[in-house]
Amino acid sequence: MPSTEEERRPGLLERTFDRLLLRNTRVAAVQQVSERFRLIDLEGEALKGAAWAPGHKLQVKVAGPFTARTFTPIVFDVMRGRTRLLGYAHGAGPGSDWLRRVQVGDACQVFGPHRSLALGDLAGPVVLHGDETSFGLAAAVVAAMAGREGPRCVFEVESRAESALALQALGVATAVLVERRDEALRMQAASELWSQCSGDGTLFVLTGRAQSIQQARQALKARGVPGSRIVSKAYWAPGKAGMD
Ligand SMILES: Cc1cc2nc3c(=O)[nH]c(=O)nc-3n(C[C@H](O)[C@H](O)[C@H](O)COP(=O)(O)OP(=O)(O)OC[C@H]3O[C@@H](n4cnc5c(N)ncnc54)[C@H](O)[C@@H]3O)c2cc1C
Repeated sequence: MPSTEEERRPGLLERTFDRLLLRNTRVAAVQQVSERFRLIDLEGEALKGAAWAPGHKLQVKVAGPFTARTFTPIVFDVMRGRTRLLGYAHGAGPGSDWLRRVQVGDACQVFGPHRSLALGDLAGPVVLHGDETSFGLAAAVVAAMAGREGPRCVFEVESRAESALALQALGVATAVLVERRDEALRMQAASELWSQCSGDGTLFVLTGRAQSIQQARQALKARGVPGSRIVSKAYWAPGKAGMD
């Protein structure tokens, strides 16, 4: 058995799959924003001309064979072939391990970008409800809404201090951060947001932990918000690995 990822030689099936479906990139920059957050720039000819919009996903091959984890590009320069992700190394898993070990110059194969959330033209007011895994999406939406009132954001997080650092690095200035373990405060913050926004044509974008999305969707439905004004995508769920 090979002892490290470097020593592992992909088999024929894996090599064929990679060649046909994956884009080859190189890690151009890694910024450790805090203990668990990393800003990662990927670049490569293969990214040039890709079709991308805010809310699309990019799957990164973090280990082999066929082990990918999903991220949300913050910006995508299709002319230069360069994109940026914010990764949250939550704990144990091949995605978190990759985030902790990734270095400038590493080869990195990606699948995508592909459509994930249908955000439309973002012309009206937007509320983002999510967690650490949604910060990249928030930054992409803030950039897309530049020059107008940006999205209102509520995020449930493990650490407010660490999350504030990450949001600062992304230029997401105003966000309500509620610690996940404080269930009562979390529900209160969400409820205040729903009552402020549910009547004004706001688009509600729900991402992050599956259970929290379900709660938010139920609360919005109870306030009469039509399903057409809610878009959601579970980014992770306890006990489930590698959601895409
Ligand atoms: C469309 C989409 C876009 C995403 N965008 C981003 C992004 O931009 N940045 C980002 O950091 N993540 C993003 N994610 C989430 C990320 O893909 C997952 O967190 C991923 O599962 C982590 O991989 P892992 O190998 O560390 O853990 P896994 O092997 O996938 O999971 C191991 C265990 O950890 C738990 N777990 C997974 N994620 C978390 C978490 N965030 N917090 C606490 N426990 C967790 C799982 O429930 C599982 O029990 C996105 C996911 C999707 C589907």
